[in-house]
Amino acid sequence: MRLLFDRYTEEEYEAGTVFCVGRNYVEHAEELGHEVPVDPILFVKPANALRHGSYNLIEYPPLTKELHFEGELVLLLRGGGRNVRAYSPADIIAGYAVGLDLTMRDLQTEAKRKGLPWTVSKGFDGAAQVSHFIPFEAAPPFEELCFSLWVNDELRQRASTNQMIFSPEMLLPYISQLFSVRPGDMLFTGTPRGVGPLHVEDKIVMQLHTANPDDVLLDFHAHVAEWA
Ligand code: MG
Repeated sequence: MRLLFDRYTEEEYEAGTVFCVGRNYVEHAEELGHEVPVDPILFVKPANALRHGSYNLIEYPPLTKELHFEGELVLLLRGGGRNVRAYSPADIIAGYAVGLDLTMRDLQTEAKRKGLPWTVSKGFDGAAQVSHFIPFEAAPPFEELCFSLWVNDELRQRASTNQMIFSPEMLLPYISQLFSVRPGDMLFTGTPRGVGPLHVEDKIVMQLHTANPDDVLLDFHAHVAEWA
């Protein structure tokens, strides 16, 4: 899948591995009753999970009664292979998107309790929703980025990158100890507090913005429908 930018750039990327970080905001770890992690919690989503665009459809999956949204800042990675040494965001980030790490929370809770993997609860078709990207060069500095998420016009999540526990310069060296990072790989950077359930017919809007929420850099829309 070719990745799309909403502003001109000469760079081109095919979608690669979708890396995700869990519990990267203190208040979200607390709302799910978890300790704040010492090392990043890493998982990946398979290629079938990716849905990429500005107006996306979310199919409500069978087997769950508790589909949760997790709004997240998504990084498009420049690559770098193994043992990436990142000294600044420019070394590793080709672009920014907003996205949804959709989670079947009832199945994930059960998997945690039994010590089983999260592949089913976080890897189903459409579980990785990613907006268009803004090129790194067209975006404000990483530290100034914020995003907001509304469900049916109600503000549910708003966060700033400076609330993250692990910054990209910390995450990429950690990930690339064991995973070769390729151009087009993406990184979901974790969700802030405010996650919650979705229902068929819900409408989600996400915006990437600066500290001023009116200074909008990117828009993303999604609509929840029955599983086809
Ligand atoms: Mg998440």
